[in-house]
Amino acid sequence: MYKLDPDSKIFTSKIQSHNFVNTFKIQESNLGEITTDLRLHQKILYIYLEGKIVQEIIIDQNFAIKSENISIYEINISYIQNEEINNLKIFTNTLDEFLEWKQALQVSRRPVLQSLGNCKICSVRFHLFRKRYYCKACGNAMCSNCCMYRAHLSEFGYRKKQDFCIECVKILRLPGKVAHGSLFFHRPAIENKSFF
Ligand SMILES: [Zn+2]
Ligand SMILES: [Zn+2]
Repeated sequence: MYKLDPDSKIFTSKIQSHNFVNTFKIQESNLGEITTDLRLHQKILYIYLEGKIVQEIIIDQNFAIKSENISIYEINISYIQNEEINNLKIFTNTLDEFLEWKQALQVSRRPVLQSLGNCKICSVRFHLFRKRYYCKACGNAMCSNCCMYRAHLSEFGYRKKQDFCIECVKILRLPGKVAHGSLFFHRPAIENKSFF
């Protein structure tokens, strides 16, 4: 399988979004003027060259938007392949394309929600009066005590505040997390624990 040069730049032009497929026209600098597609589909970034897939980048917990430069519409991604950290720079022609790309990549990082009968952390059983909450960072079902935080989680492309758990609060890169605990909002307890 063809391996992209880590210094290669991908230039996007058009975006056509429908459902979960985003098609991006690209040019890769170290291949001259060849125009191809960069396609994002169900957590995999497919790089096409002359109609064939030449690389698949899996968007898992190792995938990250490492940096961005909005003035030149650059998104620098990092991912792990063959136990190596790789970087790739994606460039767009317009601000709209830059924002659409960034959003699509962030949304792809969202975990699949895992529904279980018990809280993933403290194992308490869910029932009619003990609601399931989903941590939007790890995807696990939790009780209200274990999934007690709320924040914007913008690295997953959310615009509104989302619930997340007491384990993910330790690893999320949220601004001011350590210094300003007040950035986090504890969800008010709505369960009547003395009910049973
Ligand atoms: Zn719990
Ligand atoms: Zn979590």
